[in-house]
Amino acid sequence: MLVNSILRYKVIPHSINKSLNIVETVRKKLNLINDADVRESFKNLCEKTVSVNLNVKDRLADIPTVAQKVEMLEHPQTKKDILSVINKLCTEKNDKFNVLYAGKMQFVEGLADSSNILNEKYTNVKSNPVSYYRWLKRNNYWLADVIEGRLADCNHYRKHEYGRSKLISYHQYLNLFVNASNSNIKGTFEKSLRDEQFKKIACCYYCNPEYAPIIDRFYNNEYITKFGNNIRQILSDIKNEYNIMVVPTNASLCDTEYQYLKEELRLWKEYGNRKAVFPSIIDINATDNILGQTHSFGSTSYLYNRIRLSGLLFDYTDLKGDTLRHELGHYNDISYENKYINWFEKKFRYFSWHINKFVYKYKWRKEMKNAGISNFDINYALTARQELKAISIEGDTSKYSESYKKMLVKKFKLQDWILNIPQNIYKVCVKSLIDTGN
Ligand SMILES: [Zn+2]
Repeated sequence: MLVNSILRYKVIPHSINKSLNIVETVRKKLNLINDADVRESFKNLCEKTVSVNLNVKDRLADIPTVAQKVEMLEHPQTKKDILSVINKLCTEKNDKFNVLYAGKMQFVEGLADSSNILNEKYTNVKSNPVSYYRWLKRNNYWLADVIEGRLADCNHYRKHEYGRSKLISYHQYLNLFVNASNSNIKGTFEKSLRDEQFKKIACCYYCNPEYAPIIDRFYNNEYITKFGNNIRQILSDIKNEYNIMVVPTNASLCDTEYQYLKEELRLWKEYGNRKAVFPSIIDINATDNILGQTHSFGSTSYLYNRIRLSGLLFDYTDLKGDTLRHELGHYNDISYENKYINWFEKKFRYFSWHINKFVYKYKWRKEMKNAGISNFDINYALTARQELKAISIEGDTSKYSESYKKMLVKKFKLQDWILNIPQNIYKVCVKSLIDTGN
């Protein structure tokens, strides 16, 4: 990553002659660390690394860089947490140490980067916008996906979408971004860059019980303190109530949108009656929307406990939709359906979808239309079994016929309680708020 490579260059210049004793060099570098706790912890780590295996030159070379990053940390709790990981690593048996070393060091460095970027300790973050953009494109798969979509060479959904709205080239996109003096594109990209490291850490390590409490503390003590009072309170409530970390890259989300988010989660919990499951991370990344995107989209990655949204609520366009509900639907659906997966079930699902679609396509269209779903979304619903379910729950489910609901539940294994969730009251508020331009 950008900041790493530059910092690393400073600590271990290329001018070091390879014949110099790397162990001595590392020890000398560590003596320059001012913080006594950090210095001692990393010295112990260096000694342990040397004692375990002398062929670890590459590993040793990284130790002073990581130590320097840890020394830069502002928050005492984060520093304490990181040092406890290092100190514990030093006490591991030799064979275990070798296995654990790389993973633990990546976590330590990643968390230190998250905190230092958040607190603007790396000045490179303030470099020119084009390099942010390139960095993001390399490191942010979500953004890369958006850009590929813009090139109209993605799946049917986006092709259709971009076909009917404005299609712009990579260069036009870059120009819009660089020259957007009237909007907050630069701010959003900067914030996206700041959040990206944290998202990476949270996604990769939250499932590990050793790291989960550390990530929780970082989120509660450092991450959400960067927001204003109202939003901070909502994010903190959501974390306490549902154990979800909300990472809102879009700097322009208003209070009502956060209330909408909180209300939507409440509805799922209430109507799910303990059956509702929630992701660990809701990543709201709206970089593309600022450039005039007219339709919302999101993705669910069950494996990483994460939902990604291109914006919170996009029904202020003519294309009505509710991306959060759609993705929560997928998330709950995957967790439920995972219980049934076997070879036979897979084949059966495949044939049952195609046969039913062939027979009932027109009836399904009518049902969805009646529930207020746009033609755009109806077309998308017919592309896959999972999408039929996720799109169907976005509409006014009280309008569906009993036979349609029965089909979704019995044939396609949608959990029945999801169909009882009423419309989110804040959805209307946000819509009118944005319509009037406030
Ligand atoms: Zn979907």
